[in-house]
Amino acid sequence: MSNQIYFTPGPAQTFYSFEQHLKNALREDVPSISHRSIEFQKIFQFTTEKLKELLNIPEQFNIYFTGSANEIWERIAQNLIINSSHHLVNGSFSKKFYDIAKAYQLDSTIEEVSLGNPFSLSIPIETELIALTQNETSIGFNFPENEISSIFECKNDHTLLAVDAVSCTPSVNLDFNLIDTAYFSVQKGFGLPAGLGVWLVNEKCHEKAIQKQSLGHSIGSYHSLPTLKKFADKHQTPETPNVLAIYLLGKVAQDMLYRGAKQIQNDTLYKSTIIHQAFEEMDWVDPFIKQSKYRSRTVAVGELKGISSSDVISKMKEKKFVLGSGYGSFKESHIRIANFPTHSKEQTELLVDTLKTL
Ligand SMILES: *Cc1c(COP(=O)(O)O)cnc(C)c1O
Repeated sequence: MSNQIYFTPGPAQTFYSFEQHLKNALREDVPSISHRSIEFQKIFQFTTEKLKELLNIPEQFNIYFTGSANEIWERIAQNLIINSSHHLVNGSFSKKFYDIAKAYQLDSTIEEVSLGNPFSLSIPIETELIALTQNETSIGFNFPENEISSIFECKNDHTLLAVDAVSCTPSVNLDFNLIDTAYFSVQKGFGLPAGLGVWLVNEKCHEKAIQKQSLGHSIGSYHSLPTLKKFADKHQTPETPNVLAIYLLGKVAQDMLYRGAKQIQNDTLYKSTIIHQAFEEMDWVDPFIKQSKYRSRTVAVGELKGISSSDVISKMKEKKFVLGSGYGSFKESHIRIANFPTHSKEQTELLVDTLKTL
């Protein structure tokens, strides 16, 4: 592997033990194992058990594997919404989910705030599902835990709460007692190759899918919730899955458990603090999000002054640090720095010191 360190927000630096697990997987012929074999069932069970432990997921939740988080947006639209969902939108990823709901011709509503500002949280009473993004990767916005609790408290009992946890898992603790469904993909915090989505759903979601189907609506086919459940109950997937990716996720989750979720979350906070402090101290960049409680803990976004992101990125690349550019229209005016579990405190301190020499 090269000696560069990727601080890009996804795909990201691979997890430090990835190479070793990949070698082991090849030695154990993991890519050749049949997905209907007992060996695969063991891998499936191992990975889901490690994830439940690492993320503190209650027993009554099911874990399903998909191709991406994008796919899960579509599956939620198919399975969990009959008429309308409500989307809290403050950046490109939260907006994409809304666009998918609209592509399914749902009467979904949107609360869009100007970038970096908090939501007023006026949720339509009749909505079936509220979609929020814990970490809006495009602008580095953190959805605070106490605001997730207030949504939980003011929503109707029948309204499902869906949390995009793609770029905060496992670095931010989620309270699954407040959430009906959450999802992530593995190329962010887990430091694995892209192409695997993980969908967490509770019993209420299953009931909703069955209700939608019984009313004569389509809920999709091989990745509908009842089909996913039928196979997951046997530690299997409906289709031929990416067995290697599921194997690697279990191994990385196990390594993370050795360190402990709490330790990972504390380290995340420390690293995030020193990056944002550096943004405040240096005169060519400011934190894009002004209020610190709304600053992402896993993707620090800096707003540049008098310098373009391509200049910063190429200077840092000479020093072996690969940073992310701004997202979409912010490409040249922002830099984004990932802060995932594989980034050690020492690497992050070195990154900050290097930024200060530019
Ligand atoms: C990266 C990302 C996604 C999309 O993930 P895919 O695996 O590309 O589908 C969705 N939401 C957020 C917040 C993301 O950062």
